[in-house]
Amino acid sequence: MATVEIDRDVCENSQNCEAICPADVFAIRDGVVEVVRPSECTACFLCVENCPSGAIDVDA
Ligand code: SF4
Repeated sequence: MATVEIDRDVCENSQNCEAICPADVFAIRDGVVEVVRPSECTACFLCVENCPSGAIDVDA
């Protein structure tokens, strides 16, 4: 199972990952994007490729 982490020191809360993830791994809670369903990750790396701040680490 892949692990998905957001580096909070780098994240600018663009929310691109939440918009693009085909597996609904992310959700917006209180205006901030969070990893909520990492077990659904298929390691497609779309979130990594579309994060403007390089904040997401997917370990497949
Ligand atoms: S690698 Fe793909 S499936 Fe996994 S969290 Fe990122 S966008 Fe979603």
